[in-house]
Amino acid sequence: MEEQYQPQNVEMNTQRFWQETNAFLAVEDFNKEKFYCLSMMPYPSGSLHMGHVRNYTIGDVISRYQYMLGKNVLQPMSWDAFGLPAENAAIANKIAPAVWTKKNIAHIRQQMNRMGFAYDWTREFATCDPSYYRWEQWFFLQLYKKGLIYRKNAEVNWDPVDETVLANEQVVNGRGWRSGALVERRQIPQWFLKITDYAEELLRDIDQLPHWPQQVKTMQRNWIGRSEGIEIQFEVEDQDPLTVYTTRPDTLYGVTFIAVAAQHPLSKKMVSRNPQLAQFVEECRNIKVAEADMATMEKRGIPLNLNAIHPLTGLPIPIWVANFVLQEYGSGALMGVPAHDERDFELAKKYQIEIKPVILPPNREWDFNQAAYGDEGILIDSDEFTGMESKSAKDAINHKLTEEKKGICKVHYRLRDWSIARQRYWGAPIPIIYCQKCGAQGVPEKDLPVVLPEDVKFDGVKSPLKTSRQFIDTTCPHCGGPAERETDTFDTFVESSWYYARLTCKKQNKAMLDARANYWLPVDQYVGGIEHAVLHLLYARFFHKLMRDEGLIHSDEPFTRLLSQGMVLNQGQKMSKSKGNTVDPQALIDQYGADTVRLFIMFAAPPEQSLEWSDSGVEGAHRFLKRLWSYAYEHRELVQKQNMLPESNAFGSTHWENADPMQVDLFRQIYVVLDQAKYDFERQQFNTVVSGCMKIFNLLNKIESTHNPQKIDIREIVIQKGLSILLRLLAPITPHLTHQLWVELNYGNTILDAPWPRSSPIVFKVETIELVVQINGKLRSRIRVAHDAATDVIEEAVKTDPKVSQLIEGKDIKKIIIVPGKLVNIVTAQ
Ligand SMILES: [Zn+2]
Repeated sequence: MEEQYQPQNVEMNTQRFWQETNAFLAVEDFNKEKFYCLSMMPYPSGSLHMGHVRNYTIGDVISRYQYMLGKNVLQPMSWDAFGLPAENAAIANKIAPAVWTKKNIAHIRQQMNRMGFAYDWTREFATCDPSYYRWEQWFFLQLYKKGLIYRKNAEVNWDPVDETVLANEQVVNGRGWRSGALVERRQIPQWFLKITDYAEELLRDIDQLPHWPQQVKTMQRNWIGRSEGIEIQFEVEDQDPLTVYTTRPDTLYGVTFIAVAAQHPLSKKMVSRNPQLAQFVEECRNIKVAEADMATMEKRGIPLNLNAIHPLTGLPIPIWVANFVLQEYGSGALMGVPAHDERDFELAKKYQIEIKPVILPPNREWDFNQAAYGDEGILIDSDEFTGMESKSAKDAINHKLTEEKKGICKVHYRLRDWSIARQRYWGAPIPIIYCQKCGAQGVPEKDLPVVLPEDVKFDGVKSPLKTSRQFIDTTCPHCGGPAERETDTFDTFVESSWYYARLTCKKQNKAMLDARANYWLPVDQYVGGIEHAVLHLLYARFFHKLMRDEGLIHSDEPFTRLLSQGMVLNQGQKMSKSKGNTVDPQALIDQYGADTVRLFIMFAAPPEQSLEWSDSGVEGAHRFLKRLWSYAYEHRELVQKQNMLPESNAFGSTHWENADPMQVDLFRQIYVVLDQAKYDFERQQFNTVVSGCMKIFNLLNKIESTHNPQKIDIREIVIQKGLSILLRLLAPITPHLTHQLWVELNYGNTILDAPWPRSSPIVFKVETIELVVQINGKLRSRIRVAHDAATDVIEEAVKTDPKVSQLIEGKDIKKIIIVPGKLVNIVTAQ
């Protein structure tokens, strides 16, 4: 055994051992409880950054912990290999995207191995592998047959620099997310996947995800955006009637204008007669579309000089074209109620449109010259509905409109169908053939995959597929005549929507999925950033349901438990290349070894919170590992000797009643920390697991100064047991060092297969006492804790007490007063 801790040697040796023993190969075993742990697959853009390292370390710690609990663990890795950055790099560096991507993958894989992540590499794939996207193309064809995929002309966000369509969320402040170019509006034919057919189920099943962060669930609910309202028909002089959807029929008497989108048929029709309108419509083409921008941008409009008829009063209402109405949202028209809608208020103020209050707040006081009143209240100036409260007025007005056939009650969703085609090269080809005679035809299954040619040259930034006759020219599967291939490729979100399922059976070349998918799925633990709260996580849930309905899997949801790790900050700011505040993980690994990096990351913050980088924190983590190594070195002979003894000899034959009481007490304290650490592992608070390990280490050090010649010395037993507990608790976090010490000290061949430490033997059963719990001085509950429980343990016990947690939920805790042995008083803000 080396006297000094040599992380590079230790880590190389340990990794070689894992490799030689296929330590992380996952095999389906129906007799064993399975645990599928997955970290979101990376986009292979260069090398690992600290955010990645944190993400994958958390996933790896959870996997290793579950493995030590005795579960059959699967932790695979794959690559989100398609996408624009590879194309942009290809254009900039004159290197084919496939070559660039594969080079990056090789580099990152090597870095991941260096970090000691326990991946089953036999399952690895990249989404650009034809053996992967072949099944995506196959699945597309099944959905196409079912009518879940359709093609239609749609107005899209067009990035004139990248020459591609952008999703709304790829438009940031009116500019393309990658190119920064001003985004234009264009009409082009697009492939859509009918996610709206699943809106209701996607919304309802959020309730089946108790182990997802509340924030992510709220974001998904808002994204799906279910609302109950009514579609109202407004007759228009000499024109087709307009349909307007509203969730606030109680404000109907306050309508003073109707606003339509610039692209609305009515607006387009009037353009020829009105040059001013034509100019306005042209300006709206470059409008910012991200919803957040909609709220803050200047509201502008132009009157059409045309009136609609109010369905209940029969009065004329002017129709306007407004820049904040989008054609693809709802009917492209909305009713303007400036007294009760902030946006309408802004427009009305600007153009002196009438503001007509019809709802008053309960105290009946509001200055409608200053702002709109958007909440519900009591109706005024609304004919027979005057005096009603908003809720009952909604029902009554809906009833009247329905009866008079002027309205239909409807549930609306904010969620739109998913546009899955991109006009880019580096993606999976959409398996469609266009024939002049027969129209769009699916590629026959026997001809799959439609392989993306990888040996291409970029001429500008445009997709080489668009001009490659070799790719385009084909024959029609229906009539055999000449035909052309679709040159659009899939949105890369399609690949990331089902990779977690394919990882269970990637070598299956006869089907998209097989029975192994049902063994491993759903994923028990998914780990990834909050930035994926909506798109990726919603699409994956959607795909899971699509695959279920295709009979490929049995479960309803893909991810049972979700952990969204916090960001890595440096001096309070997110690490980013542009800010120049990044820390290169590779340099740290080279200097301190992977275990130090892992330990620092897990110790610095609870996983879901942001982590503030600290060089001294890294050094502190390293110092702890060095001290632990030295301790093990100093006590190696003692521990090795103890480990040679039969178990009964070491433990059972001790006369505990005659043992040194100080040593017994230290031993007992180790078990108290152990129990807390096990609890912390369960609730994924790994930072307190690490502090628990440090406590155990301090207790082990304290034993040196105990000596009582009158009593039996149990020092050796305490050190041997205590160290074995410490190493096992640390094993998921610093797997290399703990493996090496486990072997060196004769504990066993591999710490991976060591049993998870058991709680205290009966001799050390901790005496517990009862504490009274008060909230603001009132008796509310009682808890039991160890008689010498530390303050933080008591506080934790109090906060997690069911009665107390219910009573303090949402309240600000000012302080917690502990009277030792007697009571705890929680003082909350009143
Ligand atoms: Zn044909």
